Amino acid sequence: MTPPQLATDADAALQACRRELAEALEQQAATREILSVISRLPADPQPVFEAIVAAGVRLFRDAAVAISRPDGDMVRALAIAEADAERAQRWMRVFPFPLTRQYIHGAAMLDCRVIDVPDLLEPGGAFDVGQRNVAPSGYRAMAVVPLVREGRAVGAIAVVRAQPGHLTEHQLAMLQTFADQALIAIENTRLSNEREARNRELAEALEQQTATSEILRVISSSPTDVQPVFESIARASMALCGAHSVNLLMLEGDLLHAAALTGTDAASLEAIRRAYPRAPDPHFASGRAVLTRRTVAIVDVLAEPDYPMREAAVSGGFRSVLGVPLMRDGRAIGAITVGRPEPGRFPDRQIALLQTFADQAVIAIENTRLFTELQDKTRELEVANRHKTAFLANMSHELRTPLNAILGFTRIVLRETRAQIAQKQAENLEKILASARHLVSLINATLDLTRIEAGRIEITPSQVLPAPLLDECLRSVEPLAADGVRLDARFEADLPPLWVDAEKLHQILLNLLGNAVKFTERGRIALRAATQGDRIAIEVEDSGIGIPPDKLEAVFEEFEQVDVSHTRAHGGTGLGLAIARRLARVMGGELTAVSAPGHGSTFTLTLPLHWSGADEA
Ligand code: ADP
Repeated sequence: MTPPQLATDADAALQACRRELAEALEQQAATREILSVISRLPADPQPVFEAIVAAGVRLFRDAAVAISRPDGDMVRALAIAEADAERAQRWMRVFPFPLTRQYIHGAAMLDCRVIDVPDLLEPGGAFDVGQRNVAPSGYRAMAVVPLVREGRAVGAIAVVRAQPGHLTEHQLAMLQTFADQALIAIENTRLSNEREARNRELAEALEQQTATSEILRVISSSPTDVQPVFESIARASMALCGAHSVNLLMLEGDLLHAAALTGTDAASLEAIRRAYPRAPDPHFASGRAVLTRRTVAIVDVLAEPDYPMREAAVSGGFRSVLGVPLMRDGRAIGAITVGRPEPGRFPDRQIALLQTFADQAVIAIENTRLFTELQDKTRELEVANRHKTAFLANMSHELRTPLNAILGFTRIVLRETRAQIAQKQAENLEKILASARHLVSLINATLDLTRIEAGRIEITPSQVLPAPLLDECLRSVEPLAADGVRLDARFEADLPPLWVDAEKLHQILLNLLGNAVKFTERGRIALRAATQGDRIAIEVEDSGIGIPPDKLEAVFEEFEQVDVSHTRAHGGTGLGLAIARRLARVMGGELTAVSAPGHGSTFTLTLPLHWSGADEA
């Protein structure tokens, strides 16, 4: 037989065991539930708080459980649970209260420590003020566990009980678990918010970048007209600022004109359109931006006592306005304004964006001005060039007639009187003749050049067999070559026929060969030709004096001669290569040179095998 006392003890122990087991199971269930809420709603801690306090009242009998947070210098309740509705009302009235060490919550949060007060009705402790605050609620005991993140309390969880007494160790541990779970929820929300904010920022930055580059694209595709740029700026500002209306205004003289207007409300757009042109008015964001040359934000038109169109603004549907001046050389030349339906600050990002748009508008205006100026200048230059060409053509013509007379008469005088005049006189006449010839060739070359420049050169292609033409050119310079110079023809006889202007090709080659002969005293001159794909390359190589590297390009310019004394000795106008290169290009080809002083030069002419007018450009 078991003695009765023992039986009762065993029963009690068994019951205690059962109770503990039940509690542990309940606690486990609560934890599972809270974790599942946390994982379902990572961005919102409130349902987690609710689940925690609900589990709390199930586990702490005859008690209320509350989660609170510091808010400035106050403590506010975030979630409260209490099985008894009437007591819940009383408990809720305790919040908010100051965040100071005179309150149990305050001390727990400020010092990051757990505080367990067994009897709230017992005065004389550190929390008299707080205890008096709680007294009307009728609770007797309170335990507070702070939610601590990185050494700072971001909230607290409290259990208040109707009966006095300390929490058991087990209960304190349970409360701590709830605190940890609440903290996880807060932390999750913070991370999720941060992530979202970062994503939002990235998306916004991308959107703004896209808009800015789109405007740059419009600027470059519309060099003569600013209007498309203004329109696209207005459209982009609308979209990116969530605007109700966007006005782009330009100062012309003393008046602001509406250059581009967009908006969601047709009637207020029409009213704005009618309001311009007008002098910049400091009461409007646009006028103020222009007059102060600063960005202006009116956060609420209703709060601006002098805002002239308050009623119109409100009936038109906008409450806040941002105005950015368009600045050029320190002067305001216009403004962009953005009206938004709601009052409030404009985010820095929007302000910066609008300032970028303002800069872009100014760039577009400047571009257009420069482009138009350039066009005008080009036109003026073209006219001047035409006059120059006409003048040169006339002059050359006028000069040629008397020059030909001088040439002709000098020849006659020389021929008829050579026997009667002194040797010196004959020599002088020869000099007149040489000078006159030089002048005629100068005039002819000048005329050629002006014709090419004026685009008045005519290319008449025909089928030409290159080998005979090259032979003929070589033969015609042969008599002019110095004694010690050998002339070589190095090309296949069966080069394919060309479709070129034979006369022009002849002229270019004679110039190249003429120069080679002129500037080579010993060695050899080689004429080579070969096809390269659909082109022919003709080379004139000599072993003459060569050209210094810094002059190699200059020799293709008008009147460029490396050594003028040579010209005196050999004649020459300094125009031959300039004409030859231009002719080559007009025929779709190119003329280039390589040379080393003292080692000779090679001039290479390339031409399409088949010249078609399309290549001319
Ligand atoms: P020019 O009538 O004076 O020969 P070009 O335009 O044909 O005019 O040539 C310009 C200058 O280029 C020449 O005066 C000469 O200084 C240089 N030059 C041209 N061809 C050669 C060459 N084969 N060897 C050396 N110098 C040359």
